[in-house]
Amino acid sequence: MPGFSRTLLALAAVGFALFGAGCRSAGVASGKESQLRADQADRDGHSRSRPWEIRSTHLELELELDFEARKLRGRVIHHLRREPGCPKDAAFACDLRALEIRGAWAGREGDLRAATQRIVPGTDFGDGLEVALEPGDDRVAIDFETTAAGTGLQWLEPAQTAGRKAPFLFSQSQAIHARTWFPCQDSPGVRASYEARVRCPEGLEVVMSAEKLPAADGWQRFRLERPIPSYLIAIAAGRLASAEIGPRSRVWAEPEQLDLAASEFVDTEKMIQTIEGLYGPYRWGRYDILVLPPSFPFGGMENPLLTFATPTILAGDRSLVALIAHELAHSWSGNLVTNATWRDFWLNEGFTVYVEQRVMEALFGPERAGMEIMLAMRSLKEEMAELEPRDQILHVDLDGRDPDAGFTGVPYDKGAAFLRRLEQAVGRERFDRFLRGWFDGHAFRSVSTADFVEYLERELPEAADAVDLALWIEGPGLPEDAPIPVSRAFETIDRKAADFVAGSIEAGAIAAGAWTTQEWLRFISSLGDRLPRERMVALDRAFGLNARRNSEISCAWLELAVRSHYEAAWPRLEEFLCEQGRRKFLKPLYKALAEDPELIALGRRIYARARPGYHAISTGTIDEIIGRP
Ligand SMILES: [Zn+2]
Repeated sequence: MPGFSRTLLALAAVGFALFGAGCRSAGVASGKESQLRADQADRDGHSRSRPWEIRSTHLELELELDFEARKLRGRVIHHLRREPGCPKDAAFACDLRALEIRGAWAGREGDLRAATQRIVPGTDFGDGLEVALEPGDDRVAIDFETTAAGTGLQWLEPAQTAGRKAPFLFSQSQAIHARTWFPCQDSPGVRASYEARVRCPEGLEVVMSAEKLPAADGWQRFRLERPIPSYLIAIAAGRLASAEIGPRSRVWAEPEQLDLAASEFVDTEKMIQTIEGLYGPYRWGRYDILVLPPSFPFGGMENPLLTFATPTILAGDRSLVALIAHELAHSWSGNLVTNATWRDFWLNEGFTVYVEQRVMEALFGPERAGMEIMLAMRSLKEEMAELEPRDQILHVDLDGRDPDAGFTGVPYDKGAAFLRRLEQAVGRERFDRFLRGWFDGHAFRSVSTADFVEYLERELPEAADAVDLALWIEGPGLPEDAPIPVSRAFETIDRKAADFVAGSIEAGAIAAGAWTTQEWLRFISSLGDRLPRERMVALDRAFGLNARRNSEISCAWLELAVRSHYEAAWPRLEEFLCEQGRRKFLKPLYKALAEDPELIALGRRIYARARPGYHAISTGTIDEIIGRP
């Protein structure tokens, strides 16, 4: 903890007195800036920071959680490094959005003075914050307070948690939400280590994407020595308990969900060892999993040392644990080797889906892995049919757009298909060595699409010759040489689905008794867009689909129910939309409702009821689909 407490002591003496005094006339940002910026044309367009001048390399965070006011008050001290060619009068530039700044200081460790700061108005994605420096300064401290408009933190009432006893807070920083809960150089191309101390109401446990240290003086303390980008800084606080699930893993959850979570994730250590066998050691020490309340907008978030996961994968039969394989795989692709900008997001997600599929194959066999690939590829094709050509491209152009717009199936499943195609071109053994070299050679660095192409052409020239790289990386659509496995079991299911739709067999003859989740998902997606009412009734009677509690099956079934106007499903539809806020499930259901003139009113009524429980990332998407109530 280099100088943390000493610096804080110096800061405490300065207090808040200077807030407001420095918002004008800071002697920063001259004509040189635009020149430098022009030289950096392919830098991150979603950040106002200038890490090529002055880079933050370590953060000291001091955070106070005020659940009553739903505010986080804090102080961040950035340790600075001047890059070669940095102008003498350069200011420290970072990002913020929906944050109130209470003051800024600059200087050297333990010796800080009030500094001139100004806010540089930016775009919808945030503003710049510049703090003037003097030559030799290597620290900047900023006091701040979050506001209700921030999107990075979600504060939950006790009623929105599983136990309904205590409030809960969690962060979601990816893609560019970290800047709404602390001022930072919010670009995936900037990596910093961090330490934090957090104060919160008695009885609440705080966890972060860092090593947890012993608490001291009422502060819960954390440290991460490996450098990570800001989007991986994460915090959660609530009534949490934990259980060991492996030699380096524990699961954190509300006590009500702990046993279920611990048994669901029992294969975690096997998963870690499988990836280590393929791509080298796990380099982060512990691998823990936090089960969040159901409003978490994503399936999972790969926060280092501590995956955040939705409770909707707790199916009771380990059928949805591919998500854990996915988040774990990010410990290599994404967290270790990181996309340099959000345009390069496929380098994070395509690689991760590929690794996830390899884990599933190693642990559960090629049949199940193949089924999961086939399901993903069918969804990708359906989604692509509705995406504009520009959004079907791996190296997507996000200029002027929120990077959350790039969160489609394309970087994930088209990206993984591209890697499977490269593997096919050179054989698995060769490709495994190639990928291991990629992770080892770029560990703890941020990489661009151009870096990958250069590496591929150098290290795997036969693959670069055999595969049309430009078509795969810069072209829309799914190239015809995308490898898609075949599954006998799915072929049988497709035939049964066709026969059932045609009326040539009855539900009782489907013989679905032993179907896995994956087989059910295939069957439902093979029934077409909609079914006649009597076919829906027959299915529901035979298999109790309205009563299912597997979230993936519920989502697929309910979408079919909406499109088929199967009114007996409405109570379950409303319950499902109100009990969880995972965007993947909300989006197809609200879309089906919004597209149907007879059902849009039902959709709006349910949304008005459910919306207060959703995360801002989900409401951002659903508002656009069905309208803000
Ligand atoms: Zn991912």
